[in-house]
Amino acid sequence: MNNHQFDVIVVGAGGAGLMAGLYASRTAKTAVISKLYPTRSHTGAAQGGISAALGNLEEDRIEWHTYDSIKGSDYLGDQDAIEFMCQEAPQAVLELEHMGLPFDRTPEGRISQRPFGGHTNNDTGKPVSRACHAADRTGHMILQTLYQQCIKNDVNFYDEYQVVDLLTNNGKAVGVIAVELSSGELHTFHAKSVILATGGHGRIFEVTSNAYAYTGDGAALVLRKGIPLEDLEFFQFHPTGIYKLGILITEGVRGDGGVLINGNGERFMPKYAPSVKDLASRDVVSRAIYTEIREGRGIGGSNYVYLDVRPETVNKYAALDGRTNPDGSAYTVTGEEILKKLPDIIDFCRVYLGVDPVTQMMPIQPTAHYTMGGIPTNKFGQVIVDDKNTVYPGLYAAGECACVSVHGGNRLGTNSLLDLVVFGKYAGLTAAEYANKTDFESLPSGSEEEIKALFDAMKHGSGTENAFDISTAMKSVMFDLVGIYRTEKDMEKAIEKVRELQVRYKEIKVADTGKIFNTDLINAWELGNMLEIAELIAISALNRKESRGGHSREDYPKRNDVEWLKHTLVKKENGKVELNYKPVTITKYQPKERVY
Ligand SMILES: Cc1cc2nc3c(=O)[nH]c(=O)nc-3n(C[C@H](O)[C@H](O)[C@H](O)COP(=O)(O)OP(=O)(O)OC[C@H]3O[C@@H](n4cnc5c(N)ncnc54)[C@H](O)[C@@H]3O)c2cc1C
Repeated sequence: MNNHQFDVIVVGAGGAGLMAGLYASRTAKTAVISKLYPTRSHTGAAQGGISAALGNLEEDRIEWHTYDSIKGSDYLGDQDAIEFMCQEAPQAVLELEHMGLPFDRTPEGRISQRPFGGHTNNDTGKPVSRACHAADRTGHMILQTLYQQCIKNDVNFYDEYQVVDLLTNNGKAVGVIAVELSSGELHTFHAKSVILATGGHGRIFEVTSNAYAYTGDGAALVLRKGIPLEDLEFFQFHPTGIYKLGILITEGVRGDGGVLINGNGERFMPKYAPSVKDLASRDVVSRAIYTEIREGRGIGGSNYVYLDVRPETVNKYAALDGRTNPDGSAYTVTGEEILKKLPDIIDFCRVYLGVDPVTQMMPIQPTAHYTMGGIPTNKFGQVIVDDKNTVYPGLYAAGECACVSVHGGNRLGTNSLLDLVVFGKYAGLTAAEYANKTDFESLPSGSEEEIKALFDAMKHGSGTENAFDISTAMKSVMFDLVGIYRTEKDMEKAIEKVRELQVRYKEIKVADTGKIFNTDLINAWELGNMLEIAELIAISALNRKESRGGHSREDYPKRNDVEWLKHTLVKKENGKVELNYKPVTITKYQPKERVY
C-alpha cells in the first residue's frame, strides 16, 4: 500500500515545484510531494516582485536585464543561461497573468512595475521599473495561482510527506522514500524522473529571512549520492532584515523611495554607490551597512541602521535625486500610498516591532537570505555531475535548491521568482520527455531499512545529545564566522567547530518516540542536512581566495578573474571532501569592474 509509481516525481511544492509539476503532468503521470502544505512554501513569503523587461512604465530591454543580471552576478553567472532566462521572462510573466495572477496595474491596465536593486536603464545607469508585483505579496499570489492551476489539471499531491532518501540504481535516479508525517509510515515512490525543488538552506545561519523549512534537504540528498554541489560559498545577505528577527523587509521599500540612514542621521548609500545609491545590488548594500556599523555609525553605536520610508523623507530625497514619474512629473508619495504599496511590510513592523513605518523609521540589519549555490544543473533542469557537464540520468532540479547558474556570485532581487517559473517549467518538460522515452529501472534494495535504522537510533539509541543545542551552536558559528565578511582564521575555526558538531550529532537522541507528526525526529534529521552543507559552505569559502559577489574576504578583498573566474564543485565521499572547479560560460559580456 505504501508503494507508488509515477513517471515523474517532483519533490517540493513551491514556485519551482508547482511549475515543474504543472508542465510535467501535461504528458506524464506526475506527483508532487511536499513536506509542507503547498501554499505554505517559502515562495509565499516573496514580497517585492518578479522581473521581466516588459517596459510597461518606461523604456526597458531584454539585453539590459541580461547585462544587469550578469553584472549583478559579479560575472560568475553562466551567460547562456542568463540570456535564456531574461529572454523567457516577458512570456513567463504574461503566462502567470493569463493563469489568473492578480498583478497590480498601471492606470492604463498594464502590469505595474517597480524599480529594484541592480536593475537599470543601461544608457542612463538609473534604476528602471522592471519588477512586476502584486502589492508586497507577489510570491503569495504566484503560489496560489500555480496551486490552483495544478488542482485544475489534476496533478497528484502528497502533502506533508517528507522525502528522506533519493533512490538511485545503475547511475540513474529511480525514486524517493518519504515519511508520511501524520502517521510516521515510510512510502516508496518509484519513478522514471525525479525533480528536486526543495528550496534553500538559510536556516544554517542565526539571523535569517528564511522559513523554518529551509534546511537544504534536496541538496543533502544528492550529496549523499556522490553528486557535487556548486558555488556554495555564495550566500546572499539581504541588507534589510528586521533587527534581531531577520524577517525580510523587501527591497521594494527602497524601490518606492525608502532610504538607509545611519546613527548620525545621514543617508549613507551615495558614498558607496553614487549612481544608484540605495538601489545598488544587495551584496554592495549589505557591506555598506556593515561598514557603517563597524565604523561606529550604527544607531546609538549599536549593530543596526534605519530604513526610512516616511513620506517626508521619501519626498525630500526623491526631489534631491531628481526622481520623476513616467509622465515627467516629480515623484512624491503620501502616507496612504505607502500603505497601499506596502501593506504586509507595514503590518510586520507594527506587529513585530511596534513601529509604524508611515511615521517612524525601521531598525534593520543584514539577514541571511538566499543561496546562489546548490545542485548543479543546465538550463533544462538536468542535474550535472562534473566539470564536463555530464548529465545524471533521470535527475532534475529547479528553484533555489538548484544552481543553473543564473545568479552567479550574487542574485538580483526579483530574479529568483523568475528563475522558478522559467527553470521549473523546463525541468518539468525535460523530465516528462525523458520519462516518456524510458522504462522503469528497478529499485535498489534495503533503502527503507537504512532509513528505519537511522530513525530508530535517534529515537531509541543510547545518545545524549540534544538537536536544539547543536543547531543553535551551528547557527551562531556560521553567522559570526562565515557571514558577510570572511577571513581565513575565522573560516578555519568554523570548519573545526562544525566538524565537532557533526561528531556530537552522531549521538543525538530525540525526546518524542512516537509516530504521529514527530517533528522532533524530523527536525533532528534536517539538522543533519544543515551540518553537512554548513561544512561545505565554509570549505568552499575558505578555498576561494578572492572577493566576489556575496563572498567577501577581508584577506583577499579584490575579485581575481585570472585565478577565480570559475565555479566551485564540492562533494564529500566516505568522509573525504573533494573540491573541483569548472569554467564560467561567457557569451559576449567580458568581465568588467562593477561600478554602481
Ligand atoms: C522573505 C523572502 C522574500 C523573498 N522575496 C523575493 C522577491 O520578492 N522576489 C524574488 O524573486 N525572490 C524573492 N525571494 C526568494 C524566493 O522567494 C525563493 O528563492 C523562492 O521562492 C524559492 O522557491 P522554491 O520553489 O525553490 O522553494 P520553496 O518555495 O521554498 O519550496 C520548497 C518546497 O520544497 C518542499 N520540501 C523541502 N524539503 C522537502 C523534503 N525533504 N521533502 C518534501 N518536500 C520538501 C517544501 O515543502 C516546499 O514545498 C524571497 C525569499 C524570502 C525568504
